[in-house]
Amino acid sequence: MRIDDLRTSDNIEDRRGSGPSFPGGGGGMGLGTLVVLGLLGWALGIDPRILIGGAEMVSQMRPQQQQSQPAGRTGAPTDDIGQFVAKILGETEDVWSKVLKQEMGRDYVRPKLVLFSGATNSACGFAQSAMGPFYCPNDQRVYLDTSFFRDMQRKLGGGGDFAYAYVIAHEVGHHVENVLGVLPRVQQAQRRASSQAEANALSVRVELMADCLAGVWAKAMNERHHNITEQDVKQALNTAAAIGDDRLQKEAQGYAVPDSFTHGSSEQRMRWFMTGMKGGSVRGCNTFNQQRI
Ligand SMILES: [Zn+2]
Repeated sequence: MRIDDLRTSDNIEDRRGSGPSFPGGGGGMGLGTLVVLGLLGWALGIDPRILIGGAEMVSQMRPQQQQSQPAGRTGAPTDDIGQFVAKILGETEDVWSKVLKQEMGRDYVRPKLVLFSGATNSACGFAQSAMGPFYCPNDQRVYLDTSFFRDMQRKLGGGGDFAYAYVIAHEVGHHVENVLGVLPRVQQAQRRASSQAEANALSVRVELMADCLAGVWAKAMNERHHNITEQDVKQALNTAAAIGDDRLQKEAQGYAVPDSFTHGSSEQRMRWFMTGMKGGSVRGCNTFNQQRI
């Protein structure tokens, strides 16, 4: 994947190295915090291992009291990984401004992206890098600990520039869902849901739509810059497969329980990414208007 043509976005808040502020105060994580995190993880079905969007059920997290958080530096970082993220974010801004206008007649509101290390606060609650990257609709920010990219390579066997770009594009896809009003409607429906399985099924549709939107973005980017290869696409598909709920559950517990899926199976994630990548249309990503996904 070539990124030299991509515009660098300034909508980045760099909190790396600024030190996390843990709820409960103090410099370290107290037992209370660990218990709360553990319970949160359990309640939200967060895989304790690193996984993409593990905290993405974040939309269901109650906003908690805002802790003081040292403001990070704003603007594009100068280090390699920071530059990479700023360029991918810039390309999502350019593509979505154009595509949403053309296809949906909507204005795109650019989200901020927060880079952090270890832990940070968000309007959706305390964020820990072990949760993986996520999008918080309450403050319209994407949260990303770039050490996740290293973990992807090591633990998920899904490294590579385009795979990393896919992760960012997937989170931005949630923002697009928010701009389109999908997220608020889903949250409402989840509150009315009669069972956890039903609420989970809605989450799966949200996630697969974000995968599809990442595909739409990739197609548009490639039309603008001719910068990805078939090998790159395979890389992103490998990542999508590696983070399917069935694969993660089988690795964690030896079997998969489809009712507990919140992100979709490996096959579904790959298929919806390709649906976006081939079709290139936002409407084609509507996972809510079909019986079977
Ligand atoms: Zn997601």
